[in-house]
Formats: sequence, structure tokens, C-alpha cells
Amino acid sequence: MNPKTNAAYDGHEEVVFIGDDALGYKGIIAIHSTALGPAAGGCRMWTYARDEDALTDALRLSRGMTYKNAMADLPLGGGKAVIYKMGPDRAACLRAFGAEVEKLQGRYITAEDVGATVSDMKIIARTTSYVAGIPKEEGQAGGDPSPWTALGVFLSIKALLGGSVEGRTIAVQGVGAVGRHLCQLLAGEAAKLVIGDVNRAALVRIEPLGAEIAPADQIHAVNADLFAPCALGAGLNQKSIPELGSKIICGAANNQLATEEDGARLVAAGITYAPDYVVNAGGIVMVSCEYLGESEQAVDAKVRAIAPRVMAVVEAGRREGVSPHLVSDRLVRAKIAAARK
Ligand code: NAD
Repeated sequence: MNPKTNAAYDGHEEVVFIGDDALGYKGIIAIHSTALGPAAGGCRMWTYARDEDALTDALRLSRGMTYKNAMADLPLGGGKAVIYKMGPDRAACLRAFGAEVEKLQGRYITAEDVGATVSDMKIIARTTSYVAGIPKEEGQAGGDPSPWTALGVFLSIKALLGGSVEGRTIAVQGVGAVGRHLCQLLAGEAAKLVIGDVNRAALVRIEPLGAEIAPADQIHAVNADLFAPCALGAGLNQKSIPELGSKIICGAANNQLATEEDGARLVAAGITYAPDYVVNAGGIVMVSCEYLGESEQAVDAKVRAIAPRVMAVVEAGRREGVSPHLVSDRLVRAKIAAARK
């Protein structure tokens, strides 16, 4: 696999292929940019149809982290790891992965992402100190980032709906770690929930909140006030956009737009899209505060700054008649250019 011939390559600073045949694990660490600080971004543990798809994901996700961290005003660059083959001895694979992270000497900081847990991070921490997402003492930032991601998404949804979710219908696609916390926050303020997930067990956990269940492949089309994609990326595409049942989109999933043109398609359809990486920064805010030894109070304050930022780019997008993600992309590029100078 050659990163430079992959369509998702964007001048990444470094791409490291890792693995151990004896352990049966394989992965990729992609460092997109360290212009604003060490490249931080979680480790996705996932299987792909082709190895090249894992590379595409690592390249896209690490670039996304550069944008997310810059937009959240964090002193961090963007990186991401993907473990796309996990051997039978998971703990040994994770320790080997930690050793690879350590070799990068702080240029990359890892944490949880899809398929990874707090226990995984504790194992990785045996072989590297460049890891976050591990519970700390009372009052200190640390642990599972997903409740913070969910809080940032929830407050953004509330702002987009004019300050209240009461009685409003929210369609949530994917009720895993973030989606579950998001549903709890929404139900706590009397929103009506419709949920869809390919995993039946995940749905069952949310049902007691009074959520209605829609087929996973139809959740985007449910008639709702707002659609919250909280599963995997590329859910907003040429096929799904004409079928959307909501006029506002705001969720946690990374890389929601399948292509750049899909942003324009949403504008043409009169649909407001809150840029994923602006909305879903809560987890990385927590990771950053944990890494820098800050308090939980600091995390809370920084996560509460997300919704006003979302509203600012959405409103600028409306004024300019462009997708809000183009507004945030522009702000990030200016910030990185200034840092490089
Ligand atoms: P998770 O693995 O805990 O949950 C994802 C859920 O989506 C699972 O329940 C899965 O069954 C479901 N799903 C997968 N494919 C689906 C489909 N086609 N239709 C419906 N449901 C589907 O992951 P998570 O940590 O909750 O993350 C969710 C999304 O948010 C991911 O895109 C992730 O990259 C992004 N994100 C997560 C965090 C975080 O703090 N965990 C931070 C930023 C962004």
C-alpha cells in the first residue's frame, strides 16, 4: 500500500504501517499535521473489505483530526490509528501497538475510537505514555471521551433547534457509545427519539427511554426535526441525501459527507448541515485536557464552547450560500497557515 497514490492522501507528514505476523495484527498510524502540536486522534479497531480501505480511513480520519483539533482551539495536530486486523491475543496486540506509538516519541497521541474501549487504553498505556482516555482521579480530566462528545452534540442540537429539544423529534443513527449518551441527554429534556442501529443489543439498551425503533437502513429517511448521524462515516451521499427526512443534520459521526459535492447537494436541498468535526470535538477536548493534566471543569467549559462555534459557521454558511463545512475548513486553513509562519 502506498499512501501517496491513495485518493485520501493530503500531504500527510508521516504514515507508519505497523503489525506483527506472529500476533496476527496489522494497523496504520497516520500523522496528518503537527503544525499546531502533537498529532492527536483515537485508534479505530475495525475490519475492512480491503486493506486499502483501512488506509483510506486512516488518511481521511487523521486529516479530519487536524481540522477538528484546530477548530476546537486545541494545541494539537491531527493523527489517527487504525488496527484493521486484531490477533487472537488482543492484549498482546494492544501492547505491541503501544510500543509503536512510543517509537513516535510523542508525535502521535492515541485514545479510544470505534471498536476500542477504556480497558484497551489501559493495556496500551503499559507500553506507551502517549495515550489518553484513561480514568483519572476525581475532578481530573480522563476516561471515556464519548459522554463529552455526546454533550457537545447535544448542546449543538439544542442551539440549532432554537434553544430547546422538548417535544422535538430527533432521529439518531447509531446508538453505540456516543449515540447512547446523546439519547439519554435528549430524553432528559423531553425530546422524542427515533433510533436505528444494525446492532439489536444496542437498540434494546435505549428502548427504556421511550425511543421508537426504525430500520437501520431507513433511519435517515424518518420524518424528524433533526437527524443525528452517530454511526460510521459517508452516510450523507448522492443516494441518501434525496431521501433525508429532516431539514437539519447534526451528529457525532466522523466524515459524514461522502464527497465534497454532498455539502453542495445539502445546500441545494435546503438542508442545514452542522459540520461533523466542529460538532463532535467534545471527546478530543477531553483527551487534550487529560493529556495536559487539566480539570474536568476545564473540559466542561471547552465543550460548552462548541455549540456557539457550530452556530457561527452555520450562520456564515447561510449568509454566503455555501455549506458550513467550507466556512470551517477555511478558518482552519488560515489558522494552520498562521502557525506555519
Ligand atoms: P460505537 O462503535 O460505540 O457506536 C457506533 C454504533 O453505530 C454501533 O452501535 C453500531 O452498531 C452502529 N452502526 C454501525 N453501522 C451502522 C449503520 N450502517 N446503521 C446504523 N447503525 C450503525 O462508536 P462511537 O464511539 O459511539 O462513535 C460513533 C461515531 O462518532 C463514529 O463515527 C466515531 O468516529 C464518531 N466519534 C466518536 C467519538 C467518541 O468520543 N467516541 C468522538 C468523535 C467522533
